[in-house]
Amino acid sequence: MLHSISDRSLVSRFGISPWSSTSNRKSDAVYLYLEEQIIVGALKPGEAIAEQTVADACDCAQGTVREALLKLQQSGLVVRHDYKGTRVAGISRAEAVEIVKIRMQLEEQAGRMIASNISGETRDRLFEILDAMCQAADDNEVFLCSAYDRLFHATLFRQANLRGLEPILERCALHMHRVTLSHRDIPLNGEDIHEKHIAIIETHCNGTPEEAANAARGHVSFLFDRWMSEHTFLSLSI
Ligand SMILES: [Zn+2]
Repeated sequence: MLHSISDRSLVSRFGISPWSSTSNRKSDAVYLYLEEQIIVGALKPGEAIAEQTVADACDCAQGTVREALLKLQQSGLVVRHDYKGTRVAGISRAEAVEIVKIRMQLEEQAGRMIASNISGETRDRLFEILDAMCQAADDNEVFLCSAYDRLFHATLFRQANLRGLEPILERCALHMHRVTLSHRDIPLNGEDIHEKHIAIIETHCNGTPEEAANAARGHVSFLFDRWMSEHTFLSLSI
């Protein structure tokens, strides 16, 4: 079920945007709108997305929706068929497990490479993003919190200068949020999020390569313990 388009003005309240492309393209807004619906589980795997319905909800042309759907297809969030239309993609447990493993490997390695080698400017930026993330969590702005978390990890990973791997990390984080955020049984907790990410900032800014790698691994490995049960994927795999 589609909900109405979200008010993104609260982003300016935090004075920092989690969206890297701050273009004014309408299709980007439609993309974010649909991405949010899929990430938070308002649009379920297998559910059809009718271009006209989205165009009405977003007050835009059908061509704009098509452009956004193409980008969602490239992100692996929807599957498009000529004759069956567009449907929300599913994610199996097997795929999610591989995604977590890849993410873990990337962030662990980045941690090793950048430990104690992070500029004061980047450190400040990480704290700034973390504050916005925790605020979004306390306001129960689930998608915004997800966007800030992805920005946090992308900002840290950028320091390792592994540009070719950045889209892979971004993709892994996006799909993991889809698994975790569509199954939230308790509200997001800013304090808890703060504690988890502070450990990453501390070890990456002041720790040894192994301490940074361990913190990165710990941050991702809890996904295995918490979310990789068969039960989680009952409604996600199609
Ligand atoms: Zn995180």
